[in-house]
Amino acid sequence: MARISAVLFDLDDTLIDWSGVQVNMAEIETRHLQNVHRFLTSQGHLLPPFADFWGKFRETLIYAWAEAKKDWSGVSFVKEMQTFLLDCGLDEAQLDLDTVLHVYDWQTVPGVEPFSDTLPVLEKLKTAGYKIGLITNAMQPMWMRDIELRAYGILDYLDARLTSGDVGFMKPHPFIYWRALELLDVQPEEAIFVGDRPANDIAGANEAGLTSVLMSPPHLNRELNGVRPNFTITTLTELLTILTQLEGNYG
Ligand SMILES: [Mg+2]
Repeated sequence: MARISAVLFDLDDTLIDWSGVQVNMAEIETRHLQNVHRFLTSQGHLLPPFADFWGKFRETLIYAWAEAKKDWSGVSFVKEMQTFLLDCGLDEAQLDLDTVLHVYDWQTVPGVEPFSDTLPVLEKLKTAGYKIGLITNAMQPMWMRDIELRAYGILDYLDARLTSGDVGFMKPHPFIYWRALELLDVQPEEAIFVGDRPANDIAGANEAGLTSVLMSPPHLNRELNGVRPNFTITTLTELLTILTQLEGNYG
């Protein structure tokens, strides 16, 4: 067994806690898409009424995720938004996609916050010399999820970070793990991966050759369905004990 030199994390319900969320995501996404509809209309574009615009965009995303799950290719919010707006009749030459994505104004989700030990654990890992990575099955480009990471104080701890939307593959596809390992310049056997979804985080980490740690906080009760994590934790702090144990095996 090689010495562990990198710890990679999933984001949602691994580093940040979704148990306190009261609103539903559709409501939040509606508000962001309204920004886009309002902006494009103000620019003189003729769009369907918002209810239709929203309904059609939602259908586009649901279809994209269903398709992507067939081969674990990543859904790209950027590409889906572009295709959707062109389908709405916008002229490609007149479409400033970058501005549209900024107008969408992605923000932290009310009620979501880091687990109480997230920052202390990241600090300890950093101090101990571990490289720290993040792999999230998110359709957004990394710069959008960075808005959250920055607000939570997590961003500066990360040596590499990837969204499936940017990479074009999602967990459990091994490619997204290998891409992150390449960025961190470590081998699979030198890395552990921590995530809350057995079918995505753990199955993929196992296949890619990393040591897998299932994050199983009290508010989640996920079925393993035959997936076998190397370790299971209920708080991130327990990770420190596992690392000590792994280092002990090495020494
Ligand atoms: Mg997660």
